Amino acid sequence: MKVISTAVGYPYIGENREWKRCLEAYWKGELQEETYLTNMKSIRLENLKRQQALGLELLTVGDFTFYDRMLDHATMFGMVPDRYQWKDDKVDLSTYYAMARGANNAVACEMTKWFNTNYHYIVPEYEDQQLRLTRNYILDYYQEAKQELGINAKPTIIGPYTFVQLTKGYDEKSKALLYVKLLPLYVQLLQQLVDAGAEWIQVEEPALVLSLSEDDVKLVQEIYKQIATEVPRAQIMLQTYFEGLSAYEKLSQLPVAGIGLDFVHGKKENMNSIRKYGFPEQKVLGIGIVNGRDIWRGNLAEMSTDINAIVKLTNAKHTWIQSSCSLQHVPVTTKTETNLDKTLTNALAFADEKVSEILDVSIFIKEGEWSNKNCLSQSMQAIDALANHESRKNEVVKELLLHVQPEDFQRPMSYVDRQVLQQKVLQLPDFPTTTIGSFPQSPEVKRTRTAWRKKEITDAVYEEFVRKETARWIQIQEDIGLDVFVHGEFERTDMVEYFGEKLSGFAFTDNAWVVSYGSRCVKPPIIYGDVEWTAPMTVKEVKEAQQLTSKHVKGMLTGPVTILNWSFVRDDISRDQVANQIALALREEVRALENAGIAIIQVDEPALREGLPLRKENWEEYLSWSVNSFKLATSRVENETQIHTHMCYCEFNDFIGPIRALDADVISIETSRSHGELIHSLKQRNYELGIGLGVYDIHSPRVPSVDEISKILNDALEVITKEQFWVNPDCGLKTRKEEETIASLKNMVKAAQKLRKEQELRV
Ligand code: GLN
Ligand code: ZN
Repeated sequence: MKVISTAVGYPYIGENREWKRCLEAYWKGELQEETYLTNMKSIRLENLKRQQALGLELLTVGDFTFYDRMLDHATMFGMVPDRYQWKDDKVDLSTYYAMARGANNAVACEMTKWFNTNYHYIVPEYEDQQLRLTRNYILDYYQEAKQELGINAKPTIIGPYTFVQLTKGYDEKSKALLYVKLLPLYVQLLQQLVDAGAEWIQVEEPALVLSLSEDDVKLVQEIYKQIATEVPRAQIMLQTYFEGLSAYEKLSQLPVAGIGLDFVHGKKENMNSIRKYGFPEQKVLGIGIVNGRDIWRGNLAEMSTDINAIVKLTNAKHTWIQSSCSLQHVPVTTKTETNLDKTLTNALAFADEKVSEILDVSIFIKEGEWSNKNCLSQSMQAIDALANHESRKNEVVKELLLHVQPEDFQRPMSYVDRQVLQQKVLQLPDFPTTTIGSFPQSPEVKRTRTAWRKKEITDAVYEEFVRKETARWIQIQEDIGLDVFVHGEFERTDMVEYFGEKLSGFAFTDNAWVVSYGSRCVKPPIIYGDVEWTAPMTVKEVKEAQQLTSKHVKGMLTGPVTILNWSFVRDDISRDQVANQIALALREEVRALENAGIAIIQVDEPALREGLPLRKENWEEYLSWSVNSFKLATSRVENETQIHTHMCYCEFNDFIGPIRALDADVISIETSRSHGELIHSLKQRNYELGIGLGVYDIHSPRVPSVDEISKILNDALEVITKEQFWVNPDCGLKTRKEEETIASLKNMVKAAQKLRKEQELRV
């Protein structure tokens, strides 16, 4: 059997985020275009050299981007929306970045999550444009690698089905025409690659793991039939990832030279399909075996056993051993992590280490023995050592979890009855106004925190600063006339990191960055041990704020599911177990806040929805444990204590059920951009708990007028009763400036007051 080692893709950001620095320097005007392009080229080549040095046999080009690969494809095909007034032959960098970030009078293209990852791509917009191949970037990268490094690389492109699936601006009718225009461009692009000598071309079609209708399957068959007819010499590796290939029986027969399957996230399904339908004899099988989504060292023994089983089952004559998906979702290398617990570091594998694993297993499969005698035992030892790490042997946490009872997940009193008791304590006016939690993090706030982190100022000085800023904002809230206050979150940089640093079981890397969107990178915490509450995390700040006012100050926590979904998570126990550990820790914090006299506690879950599995049939299982873990954190409170939650980045239309199931007394949600839709879905299904629709968009510096907000409030009154109606902005205000924040909130309060008056008159 022929075996080749390869990766679906490799991170483009560089070991020290050189890519991001270069891009941002260009945006700031510090780099001329020419220098910028040259610098980016070195980064691109450096990434290839690294993989080459590690020994990977088949290298991938086209996984690099100047911002986002979907955007690359859109501009490559000339799919530039009218508002950018693009007329030239080629799409220049300024048009490209205008689409990504907006310019003068043209707002940016929308951005959305790439499948179930935390990467966000630019959504292409089809406006019936005349499409054409403006430039073949992929070919450029292919030739560059050949000329500069003498590599005959495997170019990768996003396939036509996935590209169109993720594009907006067409309906069922115009979709056919879009394909008529687009497919010849794909053909042209592929032909150019073949002519230049590309032996293999990887065509990424992750959308083939979603649920497919019969029509979808037919369409995919048509697409690949046409491509095969028109570019017969193209050897295509049809690459799928993130789940098992849908409609396997038919799609595995597509006229392509190879099919790449994800044997990590789609293992069960792909194995079942292969068992049932076999694997086409003449095709190359891409075995995605090294997890491209986690940061853990793989179990080499298990991987090699799996590969052997797959090979036996498929009878494959030619296989590629590869990552389950592009390695862009993991950081570059563990080598730069020098400050972590050694046992933990040893058990980590980022992109480079994963490439080495690909090599180790592929050599073993080829030669029947491990290349490096120690690699197997080293990997086993590292995994074992972490499994036996004391951070995973927390008896207190185990006991707590063991003794969780059904009543821990359910508030003892129904919402309707609780509401009466709560109102007695809270004495809120109708249409109470509040905010989501954070107030502007001014340059001074950030500067002071950085100074404190660098130990340039003492804890006492820093705490005094936070206290003063909080007090100042309590006064501002009094002046604005809000009804329920917040302390402002000045002590927090990030809503997950803040809690992670105070709970046991979390680790924070120095350099483990992954791209979230564009040049924006995030460094998710690692949950590697048992999560335990050890001391109050938020009580001091909230209590101090409460002492300054007679209004209620909300306690402010990040929910268990959001902490989970925005971290890299241990894989020795299930995600729901980790979520419950976090929930129990948060429950302790909720209790501490309650004991400190805080009557309203908000537990934010902005990432609850984004954790949804790709396939609808798996939603229920996820929702059942994730909703439960929120309830575990929030149910054991006094009936009088009002639990709030907040969600943003969320389409609610198919989500009202789960939101209801959280049983939070009040939810504040982001709606200012899709108001009509939410109102529509609330009409269809009533929702009886407290709800605050975001009445203005905090993502923009614009100050909304009283009339604008009034209109939204009045519209909402159609579907939300006076008893459940809250008034708030659509998310936290930490990225806004002080002036615009105060002006907007004043208008919001005025609009609420106006509404109260109108309602009184009506009675
Ligand atoms: N309480 C957080 C804040 O106000 C919520 C942030 C979020 O929803 N992403 O910043
Ligand atoms: Zn939010």
